[in-house]
This record gives sequence, C-alpha cells and structure tokens, in this order.
Amino acid sequence: MSTKLIVGNWKLNGGLSANQALLDGLRDGLGAVRCRAAVCVPHPYLAQVQLLLAGSPIVLGAQDVSAHTAGAYTGEVSASMLRDFGVRYCIVGHSERRQYHGESDELVALKAKQALAHGITPIVCVGESLAQREAGQTEAVVKRQLAAVIHENGHCISEIVVAYEPIWAVGTGITASPEQAQQVHAVLRAQIKAATAHAERVAILYGGSMNAANASDLLAQPDVDGGLIGGAALKAADFLTILRAA
Ligand code: PGA
Repeated sequence: MSTKLIVGNWKLNGGLSANQALLDGLRDGLGAVRCRAAVCVPHPYLAQVQLLLAGSPIVLGAQDVSAHTAGAYTGEVSASMLRDFGVRYCIVGHSERRQYHGESDELVALKAKQALAHGITPIVCVGESLAQREAGQTEAVVKRQLAAVIHENGHCISEIVVAYEPIWAVGTGITASPEQAQQVHAVLRAQIKAATAHAERVAILYGGSMNAANASDLLAQPDVDGGLIGGAALKAADFLTILRAA
C-alpha cells in the first residue's frame, strides 16, 4: 500500500458556512498533495459537500450507515442513500458509536456489509480502552473486533479500510507512539493476510490525536498506511499539513 490515505472525520461539527470556509481553505493548498484524501461529514451536509468537492481530489465520506436496506428504521440512513450523494467511504464502528450507541462487533460487521454491497468502502474502526491496554488485552480486543467483520464479509474483506484508533488517544491529545501504532498495525496486517490473498489492498489507518506535528512520524511506520483525523481535520492549515506529510 504505497499511496497513503488521509481521512478527515468531522464528527458532530460543521454548518453550511463553516463547511464552505473549510473546503475553500483546503482547495487552495491541494496542489502539493500526493496522497488519497477524503472527508467524512455529517449526513445533512452530504449534498452540500458533494457539490463543493466536485473537481477536487478529495472524495466524500460519511460517518455511519444503517445495517438495514430499507423499511421501518426511523432515523437510519442506508448505504444506497449515501451512494446517491456520491459517498465513497463510510466510517463504521467508531469507538464513539460503540460507546454511546451500544454498537456491537456484529452490528459493525453488518454495517460494513451494507457499505460493501453498495460500492462504498467501509472504514472499520477498532481499538482498545486504556483499561484494556493496561490489562494486556490490546491485541485480543482489536483482533476480536476485526474478526467479526472478516467473518461477515468473507472474500470482500480486501475491499475494506481498517482504522486502528486506541480509545485513550481519540480526542485526548495523547497520541500512540509510532512504535505502539506500528505494533498493533502489524497484528492487524497479519490478521488480514490470513483472511485474504489480496491483503495488500487493505489500508490500515492510524487515528487518535494525529495532528500536524506528529503525523509524519506516525506515517513513516511501515504498516501505517494513512490516518483518520478528528480535531485536526477541522482546521484547513492543519489538515493540509497532514495531507502534505503523507
Ligand atoms: P481525533 O479523532 O483526531 O480528534 O483524536 C480521531 C477520530 O476519532 O477519528
């Protein structure tokens, strides 16, 4: 996986004018960028951002998708609806959804399946809590989370993106060291290799307080294929610095 992938996760941030300002700021600096790039925006802004990104190398992503196709599921948004707006990537199983919305490994796997069935690349998030790390469970936790997605998606598994996001690093300003990230990425890489002959297609992103200052050291690790960026994706200058480091 030589071309890095940098994905901005806007989370519950933005607005019509703020989105426009952020994307205007990005557009002016994209000339020097060689990596692949995406922004995952809140659902109501998909149409706006789709238009704003027309002709840009940045592609559109969403932050969640329903595990269902259609029907009586109030508040849900389906993969085919996302597809209608040109969505190419969709985050599934972010730790904030696992934590605040009780999403299980099995539900996350079904969401990934829906995305894949509609030509959307799921960005499957895995990661351990601080307590789990301190108890020596990191490897077991991330492998269990990824195994559910592999089990449900079989040979399609080469079409996913994985994001290793240690929960203790997400939004905390505490970043995993490049060595800590590499160690877990190598575990995930081995797990994917065991599941598909096309493992080289699968990008493994690091996420958790990646920023303009630490991105290049993390991205220099052999199994870190890119980044999933929260806070630092909301400032054009910071996001551009990360894009240029990749
Ligand atoms: P952060 O978020 O960069 O603000 O830590 C990353 C994420 O949650 O995807």
